[in-house]
Amino acid sequence: MKKPVGEGRTKDTGHTDIPILRKRVDAIDDQILELINQRLLAARDIGRIKQRAGTAVVDSRREGEIFQRLLSLNKGPLKTGGLFRIFGSTIMSGREVQDMHGAVEAPPVYAIFGDPVGHSLSPVMHNSALAQTGHQGVYLAFKVRDIAAAVGGIRGLDIQGVSITIPHKVSVMRYLDEVDALAEEIGAVNTIVNRQGILHGYNTDCPGAVKALLEKTTIKGKQVAIVGAGGGARAIGFGIKQAEGRITIINRSRLSGEKLAGDLSCDFKPLAEVRKLDYDIVVNATPAGMIPHDGSTPVKPELLEVGTVVMDTVYNPLKTRFLRDAENADCMTIDGVSMLVHQGAVQFELWTGENAPVDVMRRAVLDELSNC
Ligand code: NAP
Repeated sequence: MKKPVGEGRTKDTGHTDIPILRKRVDAIDDQILELINQRLLAARDIGRIKQRAGTAVVDSRREGEIFQRLLSLNKGPLKTGGLFRIFGSTIMSGREVQDMHGAVEAPPVYAIFGDPVGHSLSPVMHNSALAQTGHQGVYLAFKVRDIAAAVGGIRGLDIQGVSITIPHKVSVMRYLDEVDALAEEIGAVNTIVNRQGILHGYNTDCPGAVKALLEKTTIKGKQVAIVGAGGGARAIGFGIKQAEGRITIINRSRLSGEKLAGDLSCDFKPLAEVRKLDYDIVVNATPAGMIPHDGSTPVKPELLEVGTVVMDTVYNPLKTRFLRDAENADCMTIDGVSMLVHQGAVQFELWTGENAPVDVMRRAVLDELSNC
């Protein structure tokens, strides 16, 4: 008879069947429950001492230290996002037993609206950042088809901040109360901040791309080629223009390429006519190379020149074919996770007013992308 999926010998433990493994899981759960209760009793005692001394129950700095210590200890298959989820809940339970008078309120809600949104890395990135900084809050993903109704939901549910992704970055703008001047110029919003019911729109892809580049190079006066002319290329283009880079838009189709180049007052070259990429910086702002098309690349490897700084906006896979070709051509490379994390960090700062824990956000995203 055919065995059910998952049954049989496992390589990791050497146990032979599911019932034995399940007994082991049950025994571990018993221990975890006992330990959590012991932890909560200790937290309650700390709470009583704090209340007698008149000090605040919530200590964000201490919570941040707990996460740092746990992150440095974690050597197993538990990913950074999972670690923040599990210990974030444990710490929230600790807050509840410390504060018997109900001063701990329901946490603020943050969200991402998009379609599709199931594989978004933003929840793990932002929930890790919220937990690490001790900022109360939960970040949820919503598959949104009707963006007008969803924006109504921000007001109705008092959602504090929202990330906007494909396909709503342009259409969302007309439902907001205020749109930041840069987002207006770019023509796309990827971030909403709810300030006392007034919804403000921003574009953080733009500063996110610039920050990712500035980690490795300077931009002022540099020759920068942006391959692509879609929404991502627009945001990156306006950022590089602000940072005083000298841009050339390279695109497959002439119409959209010339339009963006016109808006940025810069040069345009059709992709098919490029014979040499002799620029200081080359950015891929096309989806070429993204899973499942990870064998493709926006430009032929022989066009890449030694010493160029090459940035990809595609982050899945982390090392795209474009970046592998660039490494082989002795270019300096910047992966798409850098831009993702930096645009997320700007969102976090807009929402919370606090510095974003960029390293933790990066680690959470990288862990999520890894297969372990
Ligand atoms: P988009 O608006 O659909 O634009 C796509 C652009 O890529 C168009 O200019 C298109 O050229 C070009 N293109 C598409 N497939 C191509 C191919 N196989 N070869 C050459 N050119 C191709 O998309 P988008 O919103 O700008 O997004 C582009 C990429 O940026 C996506 O991979 C997205 O994930 C990434 N992105 C990353 C971040 C981040 O934080 N890392 C943020 C934003 C966007 P035509 O004009 O000829 O169609």
